[in-house]
Amino acid sequence: MNIILLGPPGAGKGTQAKSLERDHGLKQLSTGDMLRAAIASGSELGRKAQVIMDAGQLVSDDIMVAMIADRIEQPDCAQGFILDGFPRTVPQAEALDTMLAEKDKQLDAVIEIKVDEEALFQRIETRIAETPADQRRGDDSAETLRTRLEVYHRQTAPILPYYRERGILRTVDGMASIEAVASSIDEILKEAV
Ligand code: AMP
Repeated sequence: MNIILLGPPGAGKGTQAKSLERDHGLKQLSTGDMLRAAIASGSELGRKAQVIMDAGQLVSDDIMVAMIADRIEQPDCAQGFILDGFPRTVPQAEALDTMLAEKDKQLDAVIEIKVDEEALFQRIETRIAETPADQRRGDDSAETLRTRLEVYHRQTAPILPYYRERGILRTVDGMASIEAVASSIDEILKEAV
């Protein structure tokens, strides 16, 4: 089973992806984590990505598509994967369709985690207050969140109709508790098999 989790930054995609990985044996593929690993390794890609990420903007489609194309072929994705943070633009969604078709794979569900955006500011402020300064993400600030939300609406939200038209988009209420969101996702996955 291959699924996509969609939603604005702070919606809880990573949290839900981790519980799906644990409970369903699907591999979480977080492009944000891959980029943060590239930054930590000090690579050329990491250095370039860091500037873009800290500004709340998107890394180029070419780089991201190549990163995912390489990753979904690995043996740990054979049981299925959860895309967390990809695709983030319509060209990325189109490239994903092409690469899945080439590899004889398919998407089983696209799940949008819908949230109240004002509540996201409260969440991020709590996260900043609770995280020691040296462990914070470079893009964790209310100001960057505002930019990232604008980028989400302009560049990522157009993916929603793309999947809705294909009949595979499902929406869950991301304002519910972590457990309630997880069980809504479980229900969707039961229907998708
Ligand atoms: P995330 O951890 O998913 O919130 O991603 C953190 C940052 O990494 C984003 O704000 C972007 O700068 C970058 N990023 C992650 N995934 C993508 C993607 N699919 N396309 C472009 N940029 C991405």
